[in-house]
Amino acid sequence: MQVGTIENLSKIIAKLPGMGPRVAKRIVLHLAANKQKNLLPLIENLISLNERVHNCNVCGNLDEGNICSICSNPTRDETIVCVVEEVADLWAIERAENFKGRYHVLGGRLSAIAGVSIEDLNLESLQKRIQNSLIKEVIIATSATLDGQTTAHFLAESLKDTKVKITRLAYGIPVGSEIDYLDEGTISIAFKSRAEIN
Ligand SMILES: [Zn+2]
Repeated sequence: MQVGTIENLSKIIAKLPGMGPRVAKRIVLHLAANKQKNLLPLIENLISLNERVHNCNVCGNLDEGNICSICSNPTRDETIVCVVEEVADLWAIERAENFKGRYHVLGGRLSAIAGVSIEDLNLESLQKRIQNSLIKEVIIATSATLDGQTTAHFLAESLKDTKVKITRLAYGIPVGSEIDYLDEGTISIAFKSRAEIN
């Protein structure tokens, strides 16, 4: 019976992003051996996560309350909206502390293989937002994969008839990297999105 619990929990954790069976098993054994210090705080926080954290009604970000702290922050520029695939992408952009506009989380990207179609994405609410607000520019920040590019293209196409300016993040050579070590895809996109030196 005890072994069953360990195996079951290990399987659940192994399916989480960045995890695998070995790490999952180590985590479970560690939690079982350190109940006071690690397991109980984890349980409490998981319950709190379940009860208090929801998708923002406006942008789809994850936060406490119906409207997230970014959407309810009056100092954030509401005329610029950055469209991302996942909440994790939003948080990554926030870490850079550069963008001061708002966001819109699509909840994925178009994918024939994964069976993700337009209806699965949080797109209708973006169109409504554009119609009913002061948005002047939409920055498409989908990933630089084939599916991400397809999504960006579709998004740009679907917003064509609106008055907003549509921009796309530039992709290219990561800061601090040497040309020699880059893959062909990165190099070719960097060439395509080259800019004039001013
Ligand atoms: Zn929000």
